[in-house]
Amino acid sequence: MPLYDYLIVGSGLFGATVAHELLKHGKRCLVVEKRGHVGGNIFTKELEGIHVHQYGAHIFHTKYEDVWKFVTSLVHFDSYINSPIANYKGALFNLPFNMNTFYQMWGCATPIEAERKIESQRRELLGKTPQNLEEQAIALVGRDIYQKLIKGYTEKQWGRDCKDLPASIIKRLPVRYTYDNNYFNDPYQGIPTNGYTDLVIKLLHGSEVLLNTDFIKRRNELLNLADQIVYTGQIDEYYDYCFGSLEYRRVSFQHKIFNTENFQGVAVINYTDRETPYTRSIEHRQFMRQCSAKKTVVSYEYPESWAIGEEPYYPISDDKNNELYKRYRQLADSNQDKVFFGGRLGSYQYFNMDQVILSALNLAKQLLNKE
Ligand code: FAD
Ligand code: UDP
Repeated sequence: MPLYDYLIVGSGLFGATVAHELLKHGKRCLVVEKRGHVGGNIFTKELEGIHVHQYGAHIFHTKYEDVWKFVTSLVHFDSYINSPIANYKGALFNLPFNMNTFYQMWGCATPIEAERKIESQRRELLGKTPQNLEEQAIALVGRDIYQKLIKGYTEKQWGRDCKDLPASIIKRLPVRYTYDNNYFNDPYQGIPTNGYTDLVIKLLHGSEVLLNTDFIKRRNELLNLADQIVYTGQIDEYYDYCFGSLEYRRVSFQHKIFNTENFQGVAVINYTDRETPYTRSIEHRQFMRQCSAKKTVVSYEYPESWAIGEEPYYPISDDKNNELYKRYRQLADSNQDKVFFGGRLGSYQYFNMDQVILSALNLAKQLLNKE
């Protein structure tokens, strides 16, 4: 008889949330994690008394009251409103695109002036429905903003021309005709006071966790340990890339310590020109309500191409990859009594943390109801 009810592959937010819910209902879970720590990409590590987001800045935001209640019942969150600055060749602009940006770009001080300006630039599309990211961006904010604040950043981030990217990516960002620099529209937003690792540790409390354990390398042995598997790694890797490899984007980080308490005056700066090799610089202590450190840690984010065997960060949700994913999904659906896929890699979705939690809670419910 297997030792565990569930083998959970991956200790990121998805795996940890499923483990938490299953354990609450008396299920025996073994979580295996190939890295040397839990938390996946939301892992934070303390450096100089500062919670450093090791795999990129993470701001928790959600419109789902249930998700907010769920996370705040586990750990305390500091309120935080993300208001990044864009740096285009040394000129600074507020983000997301709002009246402050329109004033800085064109001197438009009223919503009517800004709407007229954008409408005049939108005309180049001749009323056609945007077919790619470039057209979508011009339809939303006009060519000047596209040229200075979107094109360079996006092409660095995704490694391809904006004409070859789906319009959906740019629709993530709000466009507002008010003087409001809040990067998100969601009613709930914050940062865990003790870092995200604390949240993951709370979620995994009571589950057995094996670190430095790659499922792919120990598949046969691990499969014997549990009746069912929740898989949060790459779906294509699980199936030995039998239909070919899905594409991902990778990011690498350079973390620097400076002998000052305030290096850039804001948590996030986006570098929107093509020449600066990094997309963002993150000053982690700016996310914290209280920090007595005498130093500061700043991380520079370098987008890179991805190859099999490297750490995948962003799924590339264009038509080609979505079609390929569908084939893996069909295979997975025919296997539904044994293995369940979820999370950013398992479901090949550009999910935010709240969407990950919501889908993990749904999967746990589905698994418990099935019994
Ligand atoms: P992951 O965190 O990737 O966890 C998967 C885990 O599985 C990893 O720990 C991995 O090591 C492990 N694993 C994979 N394969 C195997 C295997 N074969 N064997 C064992 N273990 C395996 N979301 C927000 O809401 N707000 C933000 O501000 C935000 N910023 C982001 C910034 C960046 C740079 C990135 C990349 C993402 C950001 N996100 C943000 C998204 C957020 O990171 C994800 O929604 C979330 O971390 C996904 O959790 P997950 O468990 O699905 O995946
Ligand atoms: N983006 C941009 N300029 C910016 C910020 C974002 O063009 O200054 C575009 C870019 O294509 C990016 C997308 O908007 O991939 C979504 O941005 P978001 O900040 O949500 O990116 P994430 O945090 O997911 O990396």
